[in-house]
Amino acid sequence: MSSIIQLLPDHVANQIAAGEVVQRPASVVKELLENAVDAKSTDIKLIVKDSGKTLIQVIDNGLGMSITDARLCFERHATSKIKHAEDLFAINTKGFRGEALASIAAVAHVELKTKQDQEELGTHVVIEGSQFLSQEPIVQPKGTSFLVKNLFYNIPARRNFLKTDSLELKHIINEFQRVALTHPNIHFSLLHNSTELFLLPASNLRQRIVNIFGSKTNEKLVPIAENTEVVSIQGFVMRPEHAKKTRGEQFFFVNHRYIKSSYFHQSVLSSFEGLLRDGHHPSYFIYLEVPPHTIDINIHPTKTEIKFEDEHTIYAILRAAIKHSLGQYQVAPVLDFNADPNLEVPYHQNKQSGKLPEIDFNQNFNPFQSNVSEAAFKTAKTFTKTPESQWDGLYAGIPEASQDVFESQHNHSQELFDDNTFARSSSSYAQIKQKYIIASLKNNLIVVHQNRAHQRVLYEELLQNMTNFSASPQQLLFPINVQMEVIKVSKLLELQPVLSSVGFVFESSLATELIFNALPAFLEPAKLDSTLQDLLVALEDPEQFVSKKHAEMIAMALAKSMSLKTGTHLTTEAMEHLINQLFACQDPYVCPFKKPIIQTITFEEIDQKFKL
Ligand code: ADP
Ligand code: MG
Repeated sequence: MSSIIQLLPDHVANQIAAGEVVQRPASVVKELLENAVDAKSTDIKLIVKDSGKTLIQVIDNGLGMSITDARLCFERHATSKIKHAEDLFAINTKGFRGEALASIAAVAHVELKTKQDQEELGTHVVIEGSQFLSQEPIVQPKGTSFLVKNLFYNIPARRNFLKTDSLELKHIINEFQRVALTHPNIHFSLLHNSTELFLLPASNLRQRIVNIFGSKTNEKLVPIAENTEVVSIQGFVMRPEHAKKTRGEQFFFVNHRYIKSSYFHQSVLSSFEGLLRDGHHPSYFIYLEVPPHTIDINIHPTKTEIKFEDEHTIYAILRAAIKHSLGQYQVAPVLDFNADPNLEVPYHQNKQSGKLPEIDFNQNFNPFQSNVSEAAFKTAKTFTKTPESQWDGLYAGIPEASQDVFESQHNHSQELFDDNTFARSSSSYAQIKQKYIIASLKNNLIVVHQNRAHQRVLYEELLQNMTNFSASPQQLLFPINVQMEVIKVSKLLELQPVLSSVGFVFESSLATELIFNALPAFLEPAKLDSTLQDLLVALEDPEQFVSKKHAEMIAMALAKSMSLKTGTHLTTEAMEHLINQLFACQDPYVCPFKKPIIQTITFEEIDQKFKL
C-alpha cells in the first residue's frame, strides 16, 4: 500500500499553531508586548483600533532586528531566546517557543518595521497569511514596530466568533495590565480609537498599581514580603474591607511572568479567612520569585499555567506571609470573647468608627465665653469630688447647659426640641449590640434601629436633592475611573439625569468605563464602587420597588447602600446627630422599606415592671 503521510505545508502548520496561540486580538497584544519587553525596551506603545479587530500596533524602542532576523522571526520555531534544550530550565524571557509571530502572520496582515541601534537604516517587511510580500529599507528610529491588521481575515469562522468590541477591549486591557504590572520600570501607553486609556510612566510597583487602578488604591494596599530559599514573595494585597463583589484585581506573577493559579488563589483566600464579607473577593498583586529550574513554563502555549516543583511549600509560605502582613498592618480583627456583637459583625463594619458623614457645628462657638461651659465645668468639678451621697448635685445645670450647647451646634434641628420632649444630657444615649441606640424621650425610653434610621435620613435627603436639585456634590481632584460590564455602564447612563441630581457627576469614556468627576458629599470616594454595585443589584430586585417612581427607587437603593450598618460603633455625638436628623425627617418612624425604626417603652411600663 502506498504511503499516505505527508508533511503539512508551513502556512497550514502555522495556521494550526495559530489556533492555540492566537485566540483573539488580546492574544496578539500579549505576544507583541512580551516581545517588546524581551527586546529590552524602556518605552512601549500599544495602539488599537476597534478593539483590535481592525488594527493592533506595538511600537517599542528596544534592540530591533537585523535585516535577516526581520524575515526569520516569522518562521515557526524561530527564536533568539533559547539555543539548547537545557536553556528551557533557565528561562528569563517571556517568549522562547518561537511560534507567536509565525502564528500571527498566518492569520493577519502584518507589517514589521525595525532598526538596530548601530544601523543607518531599518527594514520594512510586509507579510500576509504567511506569504512574504515585500522587504525594503526604511528610515526608522531604533526599535521595532509591529502592525497587525485584519486579524482572522482568512478564517471567517474565527472572526465571527469574536465577541463584542467592549468585551474584546476588556481582554486587551487585561493583557496590557498584566504586562504593565510585571514591568513597572517600563513606560507603557495604550491608545484605543485615538483615546488614551493608559499612560504609565516608569515607576515603582506601588506607583504602577496606583496609576493603573486609580489614586484611591494607594491607601488600600498592604505590602507583603517574604524571603525563603524556596520562594521569595513581594507584592500587595488589598485591605479586606475593599474586597469586591466581582472577582477583581487578582494577579500572580512568577519570575516576571503573569500566571494563573487556582491553587495559590486558594492560599490567598485562606489567609483572608474570616475577614471578608460574604460574596466578596480579595484583590492581590503577588510576585513570586523561584529558582528557574524549579518550574516548568512550557506546559501551555500561552505560558500562563506553570508547574511548580514545590507548590505545597509555596502555598504555605504565601499564606503565612499574607496573614503576617494583614496582622502587622492591623487589619485582622482582634477577637474579643467578652463582646458578643463583635463576633457576629463583619470585619469591615467592626472597624468603622461611628463618624457620620456630615456633622454640623458652629464654628463661632467658644466654650470659654459661654455660661454653658461654666455650668458644665462646675458640674464636672463636682463630679470628680462628689461622694455618692451627693449624686443629685451632679445633674444640676446639665439639662440647660447641654441644651444650650446642643442648640448652638444644631440650629437646624431646633423644631424637634421645641416641644421640649427630649431630655438630653451627654449620657442620654447608649448603643447596644452596635445596632440600636437607646435614648430617653421625656416620659419614654426609645430604642432606635441605627441602620434604618440612617436609611430614612439619607432617603429623605436624597429625594429632596432630586426634586430641587439642591445637592452640592464634592468635586474630585482626581476623577475616578470605574470599570464595569457594558450592560452596567449603559444602565447607569440611563439613570444619569437622576443620579446627577443627587451629586453623581459622571461621563462615559468607554463602553466599559465611567469617569466620575464629582460624588455626593456624603459618599466616601472609596465606597463609590461598592455603592454602584449595590445600586445595580438593588435595582434588579423588582419586588422591593413595585409601583415606585424612578427617583424613589434610586433614593431607596442608595440610602440602603450608603447607610451606617449594624455593627458600626457610634460615638455619643454621632448618635445624637443621627437622632436629630431622624426627628427632622418627615416620617421618622419607618424606614424607606417600611420597617419600623423606633420602639418606645414608657416609664410607666418600666415602673410597672419594677412593681412585680
Ligand atoms: P519568541 O518570543 O518565543 O522567541 P516570537 O515569534 O514571538 O518568538 O519572536 C521571534 C523572534 O523575533 C524573537 O525571538 C526575537 O528575536 C524577534 N523579535 C520579536 N519581536 C521583537 C521585538 N519587538 N524587538 C526585537 N526582536 C523581536
Ligand atoms: Mg514572543
